[in-house]
Amino acid sequence: MSAAASLAPDVLAKYEPVIGLEVHVQLLTATKAFCGCANKFGAEPNTNICPVCLGLPGALPVLNARAVEFATLASLALNCTVNERSIFARKNYFYPDLPKGYQISQYDRPLAEHGWIEVSSAGGGTKRIGITRLHLEEDAGKSLHEGFPDSATRTYLDLNRCGTPLIEIVSEPDIRTPDEAFEYLTRLKEILLYCGVSDCNMEEGSLRCDANVSVRPKGAERFGTKAEVKNVNSFRFIRAALEYEIERQVEVIVSGGRVLQETRLWNANEGRTYSMRSKEQAHDYRYFPEPDLPPLIVSAELLSEARRKLPELPEAKRLRLVRELGISPGNAAILTASLALASRFEEYAKSARSPERFANVLLSEVGGRLKALGLELEQSPVSMAGIVLAANLLEEGKISSKQMKQLFDAAFEKGEDFAAVYEREKPQQVTDASALEKMIDEVIAANPKQVEQYRAGKKTLAGFFVGQVMRASKGQANPALLNELVTKKLDG
Ligand code: ADP
Ligand code: MG
Ligand code: ZN
Repeated sequence: MSAAASLAPDVLAKYEPVIGLEVHVQLLTATKAFCGCANKFGAEPNTNICPVCLGLPGALPVLNARAVEFATLASLALNCTVNERSIFARKNYFYPDLPKGYQISQYDRPLAEHGWIEVSSAGGGTKRIGITRLHLEEDAGKSLHEGFPDSATRTYLDLNRCGTPLIEIVSEPDIRTPDEAFEYLTRLKEILLYCGVSDCNMEEGSLRCDANVSVRPKGAERFGTKAEVKNVNSFRFIRAALEYEIERQVEVIVSGGRVLQETRLWNANEGRTYSMRSKEQAHDYRYFPEPDLPPLIVSAELLSEARRKLPELPEAKRLRLVRELGISPGNAAILTASLALASRFEEYAKSARSPERFANVLLSEVGGRLKALGLELEQSPVSMAGIVLAANLLEEGKISSKQMKQLFDAAFEKGEDFAAVYEREKPQQVTDASALEKMIDEVIAANPKQVEQYRAGKKTLAGFFVGQVMRASKGQANPALLNELVTKKLDG
């Protein structure tokens, strides 16, 4: 990708990108922000509307308490300070999908400020990306440009989305690379999903992101002029759009030009951005205080109630899995990427002899097979109890890892649970010490060089001998006994 690909890497390396993200998230309330209409994606167009969300004369908005609760929860989860008193404002502009002529939003007194999200920094530690503000607002309707027989000549309007409650989360310009932006968004989405305030579904538009980016010569203090990239509908595309945009801006500068402050649109098919409007054409929103809504007061009681409802957040869960269950940081990160997976894992880890072993079997054996088949965990023929059984049999040395793989192969092939396959096939195990010793002797005799190295101190070679004997036994040697006998033979 990259239309600006003519830039030499060493030229690009002389510049530092500066990125700030504005994220809009629809809240999962049953009804809209200021009226009783259903807040539901995918309904028949123009069925969930009323005088309030259409802004008909005389209609008055009434704030949805649940939207405030969700926004407060998100603010706390994002380490923001919640303002006791915030103010609603009208953001005025004309657009066909905005019949009211303004969106109710918050302007100079937002609900929450001064938060942060932690991302991993290039050096290996962590880095805080500041959150400037989090405010409540309402969504506009949707213009439908395609999908109708006469779409070539007409645009249709669906006003169901008018009045859907949103939070907008604005980051500080603290992000320095497209990868960091990707991680910020991944963390943000995880946190919001854990809080249950949004489904964060980018395809359905319940999470939308505008990316602001500028470049400056490395070491410079002042920021460069930024462009704002809109219309990007996946985190991967945001990363790609930022990569493109950074190269484009550097190219403009090194060829003697000046970066314009403008809004640009991402074109996913072409992998590039296009200018949409410059600053001169920019919306002049003219915010006014909203006279129909009183100041939003988040009382101390409301705030402490939200604090009580705050769930364990992804980062805390990751650390706890590592600390309390002995899960490796890598596995903990994968397990906590989804709250549903993390909860299922924790529930069943209680009956696992080794939670880390269970995690490995779950993620690599089962996860790998599911991924290859394009299935979700809920669609797995092997139950969580079956996976725990496999991990425990492995941990106890009752089956070898090769036998476990064969049992999982059979289970997935026949669509059966692990326990059923295990009971039927009861894999043979060689537990007869003398039979194993005979095999070990043969392997030792066939590999004198390795024996010499082992005895000279290279103890890790024990694994080589175990592997050879396991192979000779067609995977049927009892692993625990085999390990014990191999070391005894080599040391003796
Ligand atoms: P605007 O008024 O154009 O929306 P804001 O100051 O509100 O600009 O900032 C919007 C977003 O742009 C924020 O996320 C902020 O961090 C980011 N931002 C501001 N200045 C820059 C810059 N020079 N380069 C990159 N991002 C910036
Ligand atoms: Mg902006
Ligand atoms: Zn309504």
